[in-house]
Amino acid sequence: MTMFLFSCTDNSVPKTQEPEHSPVVNEEGPVRIGFSMDTLLEERWLKDRELFKEAVENLGAEVEIVAANGDDALQISQAETLIQSGIDLLVIVPHNAAATAAIVHKAHLAGIQVIAYDRLVKNAEVDMYISFDNEQVGKMQAEAMTALVPKGNYVFIGGAITDNNAHLLKKGVFKVLQPFIESGDIHVVYDQWTKDWTPANAQANMEQAIRNSNGQIDAVIAANDATAGGAIQALQNHGLISQIPVAGQDADLAGVQRIVVGTQTMTVYKPIKILTQKVAEIAVAMAKGEKVTANQQVNNGKKEVPSILLSPIAVNIDNIESTVIEDGFHAAEEVYARE
Ligand code: BGC
Repeated sequence: MTMFLFSCTDNSVPKTQEPEHSPVVNEEGPVRIGFSMDTLLEERWLKDRELFKEAVENLGAEVEIVAANGDDALQISQAETLIQSGIDLLVIVPHNAAATAAIVHKAHLAGIQVIAYDRLVKNAEVDMYISFDNEQVGKMQAEAMTALVPKGNYVFIGGAITDNNAHLLKKGVFKVLQPFIESGDIHVVYDQWTKDWTPANAQANMEQAIRNSNGQIDAVIAANDATAGGAIQALQNHGLISQIPVAGQDADLAGVQRIVVGTQTMTVYKPIKILTQKVAEIAVAMAKGEKVTANQQVNNGKKEVPSILLSPIAVNIDNIESTVIEDGFHAAEEVYARE
């Protein structure tokens, strides 16, 4: 039996491994991992798909990938198809943290273990949860913004209410803001979730925030770069672009380009390659029946889920080179293309 113990601070980007020559097999043939994704409509998830496939195949196993484009019923039926096709283990990025509990239940009835990837499935017997520390993402955003704007009117454009990560991020943001709110230095003039994390819904939220506050806004914390992009569009429509600091998350190319041109202040970079590598290693080991251990636990309402939480990295104009560019997350030519 192999025991894995991963440290949450082990954030070195793994080097690409040579594919193994002989496939990893269990009694019935090569190990097959199912990967059920919420959506491929955002840049980061395309990276997740590509890098996860590469990581699993480099370990000599096979992977079957499906994406539901934000449709809960479709995600459930796609997962059922994967389960019936005889996968050895299911990795899931839930669109809806609650609705996907049904998938975990069905997988278990078929004797298949489930790993929650990046987003936790709530109220279900999930076997493992591997993600970045999402509360820390929110803390990093609020720390960066309060350092720049210690007093004033804040707008919080949250993520999707159906995504547990949106709740964790909000918790982190408000932990940092709370003392400023209590001292009366910071007023949160707008705080709203953004359905499905879309730029269009975030833009509508930001328009509302501008109306509510007569444009008296000093800082915007958006839950990711997609929502930051929507918020920045609204600021631009009101002639407020570049005047108000905006925080985001994901180090999307558009987000990093906006940092370079000065319309976004910071983002939080999560090295996806480290996540895909960890999940691939654990998934293949679990599928082979090996015992794996995690160094943290997260309660999902049903159980303490063994968890591995990786460290995010705050990125602003000063460290773009030494983070996203050095890691090869984005090419320098692309990052500076809009300068
Ligand atoms: C992820 C973010 C992503 C968001 C929208 C969250 O669960 O952690 O990285 O931007 O979903 O897809």
